[in-house]
Amino acid sequence: MPRNSATCIICGNELSLSEMKSVLLKKGDCTGFVHMTCATTDELKECIIEIARQEKEYYEDLMKISPEFKEESIRQFEEKYGTFNEVSDYAPSDSEIIIAALLHELQKRRNH
Ligand SMILES: [Zn+2]
Repeated sequence: MPRNSATCIICGNELSLSEMKSVLLKKGDCTGFVHMTCATTDELKECIIEIARQEKEYYEDLMKISPEFKEESIRQFEEKYGTFNEVSDYAPSDSEIIIAALLHELQKRRNH
């Protein structure tokens, strides 16, 4: 399977990770990618909150290693979030774009 596609854990169809139409979702014990259109409104809301929580933790961790940026603390940060080589290997996923897409999907449902 190409790296930029996955199987939706709700409908079982393929989804493209490069399009901002899918999101990582925790469903019971399993976590996987789903089409935003397959997720319930509550699940979309949970996704937004989860992204916000993770982003907050990321920036808090970043603040913890600054302003000294000691070698040891940078190494620990990289262990948690990945080194440049590991991170740059993924398809770029800007959480702001995903949040905008999720909010757009929520608004679309509200207007129906
Ligand atoms: Zn689906």
